[in-house]
Amino acid sequence: MITEDHVGEVQQQYQLGEAFAHQLDHQDPLRELRHQFNMPTTAEGNEEYYFCGNSLGLQPKLAQQYLDEVLTNWAQRGVKGHFKGNYPWLPYHEFLTEQMASLVGAQPCEVVMMNSLTVNLHLMMVSFFNPTAERFKIVIEEHAFPSDHYAVISQLAHHGISEAEGVQLLSPKPGEELLDEVDILNLIESEGDKIALILLPGVQYYTGQVLDIKVITQHAHRKGIIVGVDLAHAAGNIELQLHDWNVDFACWCSYKYLNSGPGSVAGCFIHQRHVTNTQLKRFAGWWGHDKTSRFEMVNQFQPIPTAEGWQLSNPPILSLAAIRASLDTFAMAGGIKPLREKSVKLTGYLAFLLANELSGAISIITPKHPIRRGCQLSLKCHTQQLTGKQLFEQLEAKGVTTDWREPDVIRVAPVPLYNSFADVYQFVHILKAIMQGNANPSINHNLLVAK
Ligand SMILES: *Cc1c(COP(=O)(O)O)cnc(C)c1O
Repeated sequence: MITEDHVGEVQQQYQLGEAFAHQLDHQDPLRELRHQFNMPTTAEGNEEYYFCGNSLGLQPKLAQQYLDEVLTNWAQRGVKGHFKGNYPWLPYHEFLTEQMASLVGAQPCEVVMMNSLTVNLHLMMVSFFNPTAERFKIVIEEHAFPSDHYAVISQLAHHGISEAEGVQLLSPKPGEELLDEVDILNLIESEGDKIALILLPGVQYYTGQVLDIKVITQHAHRKGIIVGVDLAHAAGNIELQLHDWNVDFACWCSYKYLNSGPGSVAGCFIHQRHVTNTQLKRFAGWWGHDKTSRFEMVNQFQPIPTAEGWQLSNPPILSLAAIRASLDTFAMAGGIKPLREKSVKLTGYLAFLLANELSGAISIITPKHPIRRGCQLSLKCHTQQLTGKQLFEQLEAKGVTTDWREPDVIRVAPVPLYNSFADVYQFVHILKAIMQGNANPSINHNLLVAK
């Protein structure tokens, strides 16, 4: 856990100027890891400044090798590749379990890689959303990622519950951007008896806010509420302790901070308390059936007594190979702990530079305290000369990849695996140059006007 003291220490260390960025890189024990990734290049052939790992993580160089191994196995062995080779396909997903479980703070029996994120949310709600006449509401954020919202309302509809009846929205206080956890706990206290499920993000995709899942889960469980977590922006980004926090289920994609390639197979966590419960309703498939009798082709479904019991189909091995490459790259870093330590420094440095170089022109809606955020900062632009969208486009034209989220945020994610302190310095330097270049010279003194 990052303590207040530790954070204060980090913040005091920062200085302006490029030399300081190089000094931080020099002191960074993880600085060589970026060479394990393919860095995208601009049309002119220069390396981009890539800050978009929140949307699509970069390709680990190992991915090519591991994918080639699968292709070769397939070419040389055909169907026998299921059983032969260094990494046979029949148990291929098992090669990922231990490392993935450790990244999210889970026991191996609680984790499986399967399907995609939204599919897994549906499968989890099939098992864990069991509405009754008294208890039938699902709590989600007002500004949840749309796919999560659609999944929730369609699950409610499946039980004959309308959105108006069944959805309990969580909103920031009027005029604020961030959720107040006290409001969530108060809602649990006041409405808890009617709530069947709370579905929250580990890291909010738009603001970058980290929620205290441990405390929320404790309060929710006291009221008999199931807690599910969407870790799309949390897995591979912050430290998680899913098992100890006692969450009921969690789902995450692997293509954001987990660098496993576009649309790659997703992760699913089901707490140990539930994995052996054969009474839970589930949508079943043959890959979730007991491994020893799977090929006996009987009609009596007998679920594997781990998270694997929720698998439906035999998985896409090429995609799992990319995940294995990513996990081995995380292992080179020594796991999530040292990465998170660097991440706190890297994002803290970005916040420091923005506050000192561009205060008034750029505001950060992401929480200030490192415990309350991951690597991403969500920026709003406040100059009269340039809209946020234009600023984003001009960054792009200068070889800086960030992402734009409607209505008005630029998300910037320095990723500790492959971003350097010099990258962060250059980002702020380029951002400042764009903003100054766009100033009307006659009002130059008034360049960076706060709204
Ligand atoms: C990225 C993201 C998704 C994407 O869902 P897919 O099923 O992988 O297409 C869903 N929810 C959240 C919160 C996300 O950040």
